[in-house]
Amino acid sequence: MERVHADRQRILALLSDLIRIDSVNPALEGATVGEGPIARYVADLCRGLGLETTLQEVEPGRPNVLARLRGGGSRHTLLLEAHLDTVTLVNMPHGLEPRLEGDRLYGRGACDTKGGLAAMLGALELLAPRARALPCDVLFLGSMGEEVDGKGASYFATTGGRADGAVVAEPSSLRPIVAHKGVARFRIKTTGRSGHSSRPELGDNAIEQMAEVIRFLKETVEPRLAQLRHPLCGPATQCLARIYGGVQINIVPHEAYLEIDRRVLPTEEPEAVLDSYRAALAELRRQRPGVRAEVDRVFLLSPGMEAGLDSAIVQATLAACQAVVGRAEPAGVPYGTDASWLWKQGGIPCVVLGPGSIDQAHTADEWVPLDEVVRAVELYAEIAARFGA
Ligand SMILES: [Zn+2]
Repeated sequence: MERVHADRQRILALLSDLIRIDSVNPALEGATVGEGPIARYVADLCRGLGLETTLQEVEPGRPNVLARLRGGGSRHTLLLEAHLDTVTLVNMPHGLEPRLEGDRLYGRGACDTKGGLAAMLGALELLAPRARALPCDVLFLGSMGEEVDGKGASYFATTGGRADGAVVAEPSSLRPIVAHKGVARFRIKTTGRSGHSSRPELGDNAIEQMAEVIRFLKETVEPRLAQLRHPLCGPATQCLARIYGGVQINIVPHEAYLEIDRRVLPTEEPEAVLDSYRAALAELRRQRPGVRAEVDRVFLLSPGMEAGLDSAIVQATLAACQAVVGRAEPAGVPYGTDASWLWKQGGIPCVVLGPGSIDQAHTADEWVPLDEVVRAVELYAEIAARFGA
C-alpha cells in the first residue's frame, strides 16, 4: 500500500470539533453530559465512512464506540483505541473553545487524548477508500471512562472484544511505549480512642499512630521498593497522597486515614502489592503493639502493561515510526493507560502511541502540537498498512 498523506486543515477542523464537545468524565467535578454526545459524533463519522459501527452501552448514556473497517481478506485485526472522556474543565474554564496559536492547538483534551482520537479518525478517513489494499481489519474503539478507572476498555476486553494487536492513543510525543506501570490505590486507617484534649494521656491518638505508620512506610517499605526495578519503567514507587483524621481541635482523634498511590511494575500483580502492604502493617503491629493500622479501603487495582519486542504490533509500530517519524526507540513510562485492560483482560499486545506530551495533559492550558497530530494520522495509517502483512 502506498503511503498516505494527511490534510492539515481537515485534521484541525476535526480536532476542533472534538474539543468543542464536552466529554468530561461524569465522575469528575463539573461534568454535565458524559461521553454520549462525543460518542454519537464519532459513530456518525465512522458510519459516514462505511464502517460497521455500533455503540456499546457500558453505562446508561455512556457508550463505547466500535467501528470495523474490513481489510482485504486478512485474518488479523488491528485495534486502534482512544478514550472519549477528558478530565475536568474546572481549571480550564474555556477548555471547550479550541484556539490555535502558531502550531499549538489549545483546548481541554487537545493533548489527552482528543489529539490522538482525531488522528485515529483521520487515519480511518484515509484508509476507508483503500481498505481492500489493507493486510488487516482495523477495529476502532472509542472508550468511555478512561480518566477514572478504564471501565470502557475493560468492558470491551471482558465482553469478547478481540484483536491481534492494539495501538492505544495517549500523548507520548510519538514515541512508541511498549511497557508502562499500573497502580494500586488504597487507604490505611488507624483506630484510637477519643477523649478530652486537655487530658491526651487518657485517649489513644490515631494521628500519632499514623505518624508511626508513615515512618515505617518511609524507612522500611520504601527502600524495598527501590530494589524493584523494570528496565524500561524504572522502580516501583509509592506516593503518600492524602491524609485526614480527627474530629475537632479539643478532641483526641480516634481515627486517621492515609491514601496511598503505589505504582505497580508490569511484572507485579496489583493484588499481591496490596497484600504486601497488609503484611507490612502486620510487621509494624508486631514491632509497635500500640499501633492499630489496617488497609480499610481499596480504590483501584490496575495492572501494568508490557508488549514483547518481537510481537507483531511492536514490530509493525517500530517500522512505521522509522518510516514516518525517522526514529523508533521503544520506551516505558510510569503512568497507566487503557492498555492495561486490553492486555491483562483481553490478552491483546499493545503499544501506546500518540501526539502531544504527557506534560501538557490535565493542565490549565492544555495544548497539542498540530504537526504531531498530522504526523500521527500518517503513523496510524502506516501501522495498519504493515500489520499482519
Ligand atoms: Zn488519556
